[in-house]
Amino acid sequence: MSKKSILVVEDEIDILEILVYNLEAEGYRCYKALDGEGGLALARQKNPDLILLDLMLPGLSGTEICTELRRDSLTQDIPIIMVTAKAEESDAIVGLGLGADDYVTKPFRPKELMARVAAVLRRVGVRNNSGGGERLEANGVLIDTVRHEIQVDGQTIEFTATEFKIIQLLASQPGRVFSREQISAKAIGQPMLPMDRNVDVHVKTIRKKLGDRRSVIETVRGVGYRFAPRKGQG
Ligand code: CA
Repeated sequence: MSKKSILVVEDEIDILEILVYNLEAEGYRCYKALDGEGGLALARQKNPDLILLDLMLPGLSGTEICTELRRDSLTQDIPIIMVTAKAEESDAIVGLGLGADDYVTKPFRPKELMARVAAVLRRVGVRNNSGGGERLEANGVLIDTVRHEIQVDGQTIEFTATEFKIIQLLASQPGRVFSREQISAKAIGQPMLPMDRNVDVHVKTIRKKLGDRRSVIETVRGVGYRFAPRKGQG
């Protein structure tokens, strides 16, 4: 297996060096950027397997970079872990809504960070090995995107087309949080309006139909929803 590559975007040179030192010790190849523009350019150029993204950067902020990365088809699937000061944790949560996969707060223990990196890479590996996404299976829920069918513990359950799309979107990346705006845009096919409760209403119905497996759709307070990570992940 070839070396996984990680792009580290961090303006504090000491922290950058610590990150790179630890990542290289784990066998990753590292690309370094000291600011947001450099980070974006390297992300497009090198297509790394993962990006460690500092939130407080000169010029473009981490959340802006996150938005840019997710907007560009070249970079939209690269997993992102945000690195943030404890006091900026609320920004990190915003970042999760923008499509980041995880975040760690400074000061971090290198061991913990390495475990997070490995967990996110594993999660993505599962995502990419699902064979074109024809059948997704997690936590007792089997989603067959070809037959447009969902089975829960072996029992086929009827979902509307919109409900199906929402489940499919969430289950495409177990553990990743999708904001209500993202769910609305991607699964319902329309931008979310102010006071729009459409997504919540759909999720409520989906959970009712899932019965004993209702807990696979998790609410992430203030952000949105996610499909429960598979056991042993994330
Ligand atoms: Ca910084």
